[in-house]
Amino acid sequence: MKILISADMEGATGVTWPADVLPGTPQWERCRPMFTSDVNAAVTGFFEGGADEVLINEAHWSMRNLLLEQLDDRAQMLTGRHKSLSMVEGVQHGDVDGIAFVGYHTGAGTEGVLAHTYLANSITGVWVDGARASEGLLNALVVEEYGVPVVLVTGDDRTVEDAKGYAPDAFGVAVKDYVSRYAAVCRTPGRTAADIQSAARKAVALAVRASPSQSQQHTVELEFDAEHLVGAATVVPGVKRSGERRVVYTSPDMYEGIRTFKAVTTVVSAAVEEQYG
Ligand SMILES: [Zn+2]
Repeated sequence: MKILISADMEGATGVTWPADVLPGTPQWERCRPMFTSDVNAAVTGFFEGGADEVLINEAHWSMRNLLLEQLDDRAQMLTGRHKSLSMVEGVQHGDVDGIAFVGYHTGAGTEGVLAHTYLANSITGVWVDGARASEGLLNALVVEEYGVPVVLVTGDDRTVEDAKGYAPDAFGVAVKDYVSRYAAVCRTPGRTAADIQSAARKAVALAVRASPSQSQQHTVELEFDAEHLVGAATVVPGVKRSGERRVVYTSPDMYEGIRTFKAVTTVVSAAVEEQYG
């Protein structure tokens, strides 16, 4: 029984504003142990529930945030950037029975603490097949192709609500309650760790891998906060203008869909000017 944990930071315990998740800042340093505590609680719960292997994939920013030295010795961690499946790297090898989204957040343009989709700014909305999408939804569509169920989602209360749309059976743990994009009512790391550990223990029962699903075509639309970003994004093959600040593309499956999404966000982030962004 192998569980993969995709670990993002905006939805971690105590995190409420940009400096909390920006590598190099004192606030980020202070929040790293709380993020690690959330992840470790999930690891402990999964082993208690019967998992015999847990791999953590770092999924935030530079993908170098968690404190390896504070993790349960039974876990392993994939750290660093440039992975073909990005936030859910590791799911593609046919040996993962269930995945947890720890520290997740809601999508660009919606309510939620530090809500965004991949880029902190610039993207104001993402839709997949016409439905508004968060990173959780995008990644859930990727892992579904490998037959891997999402068993646990942690983040703010809005994130747990969002997860009901893409993983209705998954256990959800709200570590904080949304007040604004930069404010939340937070619970202590001791309390959230207990909640996450207990949910992870139970969530192992949902970790039943199915056969890989048939490839399904998906249409992804992105909206930007500036018109020139459309010109930047449409250099990516298959990506077309669909509005003044919108682009659209269709992929034969979500494996290609998420890779194109990464390409678009990489090109777009390089096209943002410091002034007149
Ligand atoms: Zn993040």
